[in-house]
Amino acid sequence: MKVYAEKLVETIVDKICDVCEQSVMIEVNEHKYEESGELKASFGYGSNEDGNVYHLDLCEKCFKTAIYALRDERRSIFMFDDNKNLRDEKFGLDLKRSVR
Ligand SMILES: [Zn+2]
Repeated sequence: MKVYAEKLVETIVDKICDVCEQSVMIEVNEHKYEESGELKASFGYGSNEDGNVYHLDLCEKCFKTAIYALRDERRSIFMFDDNKNLRDEKFGLDLKRSVR
């Protein structure tokens, strides 16, 4: 015998960028697509951040801002190393999983 009851189910209908607080959902032809990035870390013993867990949901614009800041930091670290590709426009891009 089946017993039925109404159930309230929560569904994610939007996701907000943790930096600019704009929605990361983009509507195309009446369908909403989540276009977001994440920055996350979990630090353990031996780290100055021991026990801290970070997680930021980022819109495309804020994600790119983070990537550019990290790429610039890399450039400043290796600016005198001729063996490093500091003009790397694909910095951080997973070429095995990217489609373009
Ligand atoms: Zn944002």
